Amino acid sequence: MAYDSNNIFAKILRGEIPNDTVYEDERVLAFRDIQPQTPVHVLVIPKGEYESMDDFAENGSDAEIAAVFRAVASIARDHGVADSGYRLLANTGADAHQEVAHFHVHVFGGRRLGRMIRPARDDD
Ligand code: AMP
Repeated sequence: MAYDSNNIFAKILRGEIPNDTVYEDERVLAFRDIQPQTPVHVLVIPKGEYESMDDFAENGSDAEIAAVFRAVASIARDHGVADSGYRLLANTGADAHQEVAHFHVHVFGGRRLGRMIRPARDDD
């Protein structure tokens, strides 16, 4: 499937809609989730056009992949959750309810996060 450059994170990367940036370098942008689910809820995205984890792992350069995960760790340290703990989530595809078709890693932290996953209901 071709990358859809009308997705909301592509628009953020082009500066067409505002965002609350917490980190940026030549390969990565990170900004606060618009509907935070935890005190720290940051989205970390590559600047390159990758629609999913599958696409990023297959087609991202080693430098881009390293940059995303180094940024995640740096953001966790900067937000004071490296010691208390945090969780990464990368929803991928329909079963995971990936809503935005630009690869992104959620960084959750700042409170106890509970169990990793809850049982699915029929409508999940
Ligand atoms: P996912 O289900 O993993 O694709 O999650 C997409 C996330 O993007 C959700 O947590 C949304 O709250 C978040 N989101 C959607 N639009 C924006 C936006 N304009 N700025 C920041 N976060 C957004």
